[in-house]
Amino acid sequence: MAGNWKMNLNHFEAIAHVQKIAYALNDKDFAAVEVAVLAPFTDLRSIQTLVDGDKFKIKYGAQDVSQHESGAYTGEISAAMLAKLKCDYVIVGHSERREYHGESDAEVAAKAAIALKHEISPIICFGEKLHVRQSGEHVAHCVEQLTGSIAGLTGEQLRKSVLAYEPVWAIGTGEVATPADAQEVIGASRAKLAELYDAETADAVRILYGGSVKGSNAAGIMAEKDVDGALIGGASLDPEDFVRIVRYRD
Ligand code: PEP
Repeated sequence: MAGNWKMNLNHFEAIAHVQKIAYALNDKDFAAVEVAVLAPFTDLRSIQTLVDGDKFKIKYGAQDVSQHESGAYTGEISAAMLAKLKCDYVIVGHSERREYHGESDAEVAAKAAIALKHEISPIICFGEKLHVRQSGEHVAHCVEQLTGSIAGLTGEQLRKSVLAYEPVWAIGTGEVATPADAQEVIGASRAKLAELYDAETADAVRILYGGSVKGSNAAGIMAEKDVDGALIGGASLDPEDFVRIVRYRD
């Protein structure tokens, strides 16, 4: 269960927030579910200090990374910098990055590759906009976007990655895809991975659903065969609801 805080919570708020989540969860929760927070860059050093010092079992990471190793890229953050902060994960290709920063599938794939090179698992996002869903072409569109966003990754690299199907029309809108909608695209994506790689790789890679997941709907989505977890935006800012999502089995 991965919480995408987006552009929320300063580094003081981040500490309080992680503490609330970490103290609310117990060893049984952490044994059953891997929990991660994807925070703004300015929060990461504080989160690292907290997690290291208190031996919290929460994983953490960033919401974007440069596709370049280093150099004259004003404002960007490199994978090496994130690795130095012991980030476990980084989101790449979130629909908000694709929409507001014009990120292409090729850039997303380059970002995934550089994250993996620095031993950070990319959470590679893909998903259709509303007009694509309405045209009925969403499955083909998503499979094509996913294929472009993982281009060049080896099977071993893909197994270390996490994929996240996030229908754009369901992000931050309160509009949730039905469990069957999530399964349709995630199942087709896994089938495509079996074709591009092999059945073991397709089975092993974790595929999340994201889009208005809350404590009240997480169990239904998680019941689907191919859904391995969730990427949670809005509800991850509410520690109680986030903990409820982590405990979706209860
Ligand atoms: C997201 O931003 O990745 C997301 C899924 O947001 P929300 O849960 O708010 O729809």
